[in-house]
Amino acid sequence: MWYAFADCQERALLSRIYFSLSSVLALLTLGFAIPCCAQTAQNPAHLDVDLRDAPRHIFHAKLTLPVSAGPLTLVYPKWIPGEHSPTGPIADLVGLKIAGGGKEISWRRDDVDMYKFHVEVPKAVNTLDLSYDYVSPAENDRTREPPSSTAKLAVLNWYMVTLYPLGPKSDDLTYVATLHLPAGWKYGTALPVAKDSGDMIEFAPAPLTTVIDSPVIAGEYLRDIDLSPGETPPHTVHVAADGPAPLQATPAEVQHLRQLVAETGALFGARHYRRYDFLLTLSDRMPPDGVEHHESSDDRTEENYFLDPGLFERSELLSHEFMHSWNGKYRRPAGLATPDYQTPMKGDLLWVYEGLTQYYGVMLAARAGMMPLTIFREYLASTAAYLNDRPGRTWRDLQDTATAAQILYSLPPEWASWRRSVDYYDEGTLIWLEADTIIRKKSHGDKSLDDFCREFYGGTNTPPKVVPYTFGDVVAALNQIEPYDWRNFFDTGLQLHGPGAPLDGLENSGWKLVFTDAPNEYEHIAEVADQEVELQFSLGLLLHAPGGEDGDHILDVIPGSPAANAGLAPGMRLVAVNGRKWNPDILRDAIARAKNGTESIELLAQNGDFFEVYKVDYHGGERYPHLEPLNGKTDLLSEIAKMKAAAIPLSKSY
Ligand SMILES: [Zn+2]
Repeated sequence: MWYAFADCQERALLSRIYFSLSSVLALLTLGFAIPCCAQTAQNPAHLDVDLRDAPRHIFHAKLTLPVSAGPLTLVYPKWIPGEHSPTGPIADLVGLKIAGGGKEISWRRDDVDMYKFHVEVPKAVNTLDLSYDYVSPAENDRTREPPSSTAKLAVLNWYMVTLYPLGPKSDDLTYVATLHLPAGWKYGTALPVAKDSGDMIEFAPAPLTTVIDSPVIAGEYLRDIDLSPGETPPHTVHVAADGPAPLQATPAEVQHLRQLVAETGALFGARHYRRYDFLLTLSDRMPPDGVEHHESSDDRTEENYFLDPGLFERSELLSHEFMHSWNGKYRRPAGLATPDYQTPMKGDLLWVYEGLTQYYGVMLAARAGMMPLTIFREYLASTAAYLNDRPGRTWRDLQDTATAAQILYSLPPEWASWRRSVDYYDEGTLIWLEADTIIRKKSHGDKSLDDFCREFYGGTNTPPKVVPYTFGDVVAALNQIEPYDWRNFFDTGLQLHGPGAPLDGLENSGWKLVFTDAPNEYEHIAEVADQEVELQFSLGLLLHAPGGEDGDHILDVIPGSPAANAGLAPGMRLVAVNGRKWNPDILRDAIARAKNGTESIELLAQNGDFFEVYKVDYHGGERYPHLEPLNGKTDLLSEIAKMKAAAIPLSKSY
């Protein structure tokens, strides 16, 4: 999963809804139901999904399920791979009806587990016919699954419209999926198609694991771009947008995306998929998001991704999700390699799953030329600076952010610096950079973390399969590349309580973190896109400033900062700066004027129904993070970020 720390747009944990069964008798009868399942590869389940109402944000589904008589427990996917959380949108499953032998069959929800439905299959009934809908939010709402459709496009994640019998592994259940799209819509997916008759797409029979791991992108405006012409396996980006203009990638952008494919070949030396499909949604009606799959990725970003060079250059979304095909899907932490969608996941190794992916996601974007080296350094500076200034580190170590991942994705930015968030992404970048520099230094430049990747994730080309790993496996594989006390190295980083973040990797690679009054370029692009004002390293404030009377408010105040010492808190609304109605320019001007002076900056803020002037005693001027070369040190960073594969030529048409 991709996590944009500046966006804080993450999948929501479900609100808890409690139902109760009507009687103790029902509890006893249903609580001990033995699951039964007549579903086999020869007698598969049929899942028919109708997206013709997707513009109205409702997905219709029909499921035909082979069964045998007796008690049956059906379940709706709860633990969603890639989300690392129990986020299956059960509250949005509506209209459930079950029939068998021509008669309606009643169902009862489990009174403890909201994702379970108990059914008594009558004698002589060997097939159940289920019908139900998934209702997608039309607007982004932090407490629910993000929108899955707009008026002109949809992303179908099969877990939203799937029920399955509890008991067997999802690998052992065979589903045949069919799909209906609105007239004129096109689609893209990695799920193998058996037949496309125009008004219905029939997919080849596949394990439920493969179906759920293979979302479909569909839309009125959709184009396919070949990212590895003439090669096997094929790589395609399917781009859908709310109109035709955003689909126009420039030849240079396509060249960079093709280079990205080549760079993964150079890095791993093997691929573990039959084909790879980027499902790229460009819509401002959906929040930026990314979820990895073995043979595809569900990538969602701004409508102007291809049109605004700043957005394309800043984004490591596609490279991050692509990297996950190896790190996350093929090799997976044992605690995340669960047999079905109900078994709880353990996030303890997410600092490998997401941390190493974050490091290489940005690195591969730089190697492919997608992200200019200057932006890449600004990203590292911004990351190092905010993590270095994270007071939450004093009570919560990095390991705890991974262990607690399932409760950290959906949180608002308020108090994030004190709470800490999913820091194993960005702090993982710092730790893996340090590991990379240690290998390079100890091997006198002969080896690097790339050798670990080739060893751990490469091998020979295979179809999708999961090879689980433990912490011990990671340590052993690193020791094969370069002997070192890797266990202690990671333990130290994972249990660090500060002060500050692990910055040795930056220093080893020839750079140091500095602050100047020039805005950080990477942050600045994010600020504009997210309508934020980043003053974390001066006043200690992060503001949401869309410009509206009600929209402007303080997102976070860094504990111990001048703003915190003055009494400001997240959730307050900034009204005026030194007596004048505030806007970002007036606030920045006030910070500059107070530099080296003695007068406090007076901020009038609204806290609920009350107004108060907060005197911020700060005289350090504007401060933004950057990297500066260390005198006498080799610039290893540029070496690490250098293109490793043969350069893909620019093609004017694609
Ligand atoms: Zn990820």
